[in-house]
Amino acid sequence: MCLDHLFDRNVAWAQAKTRDDPGYFIRMAGIQNPKLLWIGCSDSRVTANDVLGLDPGEVFVQRNIANMVHTSDMNLLAVLEYAIDVLHIEHVIVCGHYGCGGIQRALGDERTALVDHWLQPITMLYRKHRKLFDAIPDPAARIDRMCELNVEMQVRRIAAIPTVEKAWLRGQPLHLHGWLYGVTDGLLRDLGPHLSSIKERDELPSIDDRARQPVEPVSGMRQHAMAAFNAP
Ligand SMILES: [Zn+2]
Repeated sequence: MCLDHLFDRNVAWAQAKTRDDPGYFIRMAGIQNPKLLWIGCSDSRVTANDVLGLDPGEVFVQRNIANMVHTSDMNLLAVLEYAIDVLHIEHVIVCGHYGCGGIQRALGDERTALVDHWLQPITMLYRKHRKLFDAIPDPAARIDRMCELNVEMQVRRIAAIPTVEKAWLRGQPLHLHGWLYGVTDGLLRDLGPHLSSIKERDELPSIDDRARQPVEPVSGMRQHAMAAFNAP
């Protein structure tokens, strides 16, 4: 398959950017100074800059299948350390999305591919609380419930990484967030937890406790977004 059309699109894009904003690439060539780290899913529909409405240079990004946090993942650990120690980012956002194919896979019985090793923690959480999840009659709603819980779980895992603990111990402002993106409406939900210290992390209920409680994804921010979205 010839990919020449992508180079054509690239030229058109660069020309349009320069036409609309002659200083755009001069600014972009300067040092990057993002204050956000986005840990998201590899899903092609959920691109951090587009969802946040931000220019390149404003968000540091790490993506993988189902926005998982494995504390032995060298890729994630290196990104996290660089983001905190060098870029001094202030917010780490774990952002999942409803209808996640990775979460759907984790809830299934197929266990033969590398991706099943990758998704193992969420599979185990599902199986541990299977009665609760399987009581949700709509399969899509069951997947969405796991998408919510997965975000909460991964925020907890970020909070347990020594790089994050060290930043908190030395008093560096660092806030962890759990968000979910709706691919059907383009809106973000602020699920939590919000963590800004070791104390807050240690006081959190366990992920098993959270599995037994419904998550309320419609935050004040979300309601504001819905009102704006539906305004005439
Ligand atoms: Zn996904």
